[in-house]
Amino acid sequence: MIEIDGAQGEGGGQILRTSLTLSVCLGVPVRIKNIRAGRKKPGLLRQHLACLRAAKAISHAEVSGEQLGASEITFAPGKVRPGKYHFPIGSAGSTSLVFQTVLLPLLLADGASELCFEGGTHNASAPSFDFIAQAYLPLLARMGAGIELALDNHGFYPAGGGSWRARVQPVSQLSKLELTERGEIVDCEAVATFAHIPAHVAQRELAQVRNKCDWQPDRLYQKRVKSQGPGNLLSLRLQFEKVTEVFESVGELGLSAERVAQRGISQMQGYLNSGVPVGVYLADQLLLPMALGAGGRFRTLNPSQHFLTNIQVIRNITGTEIQIMEFDDNDWEVVVDCN
Ligand code: AMP
Repeated sequence: MIEIDGAQGEGGGQILRTSLTLSVCLGVPVRIKNIRAGRKKPGLLRQHLACLRAAKAISHAEVSGEQLGASEITFAPGKVRPGKYHFPIGSAGSTSLVFQTVLLPLLLADGASELCFEGGTHNASAPSFDFIAQAYLPLLARMGAGIELALDNHGFYPAGGGSWRARVQPVSQLSKLELTERGEIVDCEAVATFAHIPAHVAQRELAQVRNKCDWQPDRLYQKRVKSQGPGNLLSLRLQFEKVTEVFESVGELGLSAERVAQRGISQMQGYLNSGVPVGVYLADQLLLPMALGAGGRFRTLNPSQHFLTNIQVIRNITGTEIQIMEFDDNDWEVVVDCN
């Protein structure tokens, strides 16, 4: 049984999710201690429990410690069983993180899967449904993955109630990813999504994008959506020849529309000022598919603590060589060597 310290590095939920994904894919049991020791509310929250239960369901794993607040679990997977699964979180927690936990084992399994998720679809501190659909999955498609998504309902914190489906076609081996340049810009788009709040919030967010980024009015969209509870999100999409990046900011009670917009804009400007193709979030999310596939390389911004922690966990469990080299400020090359 491989021992993983959940307090290492950033000490967040990614250590749990990465360990579960690798455990299921490689068929190795893991014991994870000090789960989320670096967070304000340590241990398993409902969202992490949903990831654990999803990983257990697809692999018929034997699990100990499966309860809210647990700081230690053991997880011994069986063979991955593709098929139809329904994963309700039971809160507004992020469904995308549950999806990312089970995606790679199901992608590398010996049959197709149909998945249905319920909970939050556009959460702060997690990839949104749109980020997954527009930025993450196109790169996996380039590695050979066939995945289709359909969003039925938006789910925002705290009401939740979002739902969506994924169809996963298996692939015997993910191919190498080489992503060292962006290419020319092809398109850009800002979408201010809102539910049960006044339309002026979305309009002010888009006005901020127009003023600060000089984007043309026909690239700015407001989208009123149905949802169980109120919610708002500004999503900025940059499509280049070789990559699409998405920068998002989720609206918060007590934070002005202008400040919500500025958070997303500042992130996007940091990325635009560098010349690299891969932003901070995509960087840590690409490591697992590359390590489980044929490796490759990409150029990215200064590494986050989250990214470095993920590298450490992947190295511990798989032994994969992951090197990072600094070329300049905000210009790093990451090489995942699977040979
Ligand atoms: P953790 O905080 O350890 O639970 O992990 C959060 C995950 O969400 C990581 O994979 C991040 O890359 C991802 N993430 C957080 N914020 C964003 C964002 N704004 N856009 C896309 N992905 C995000």
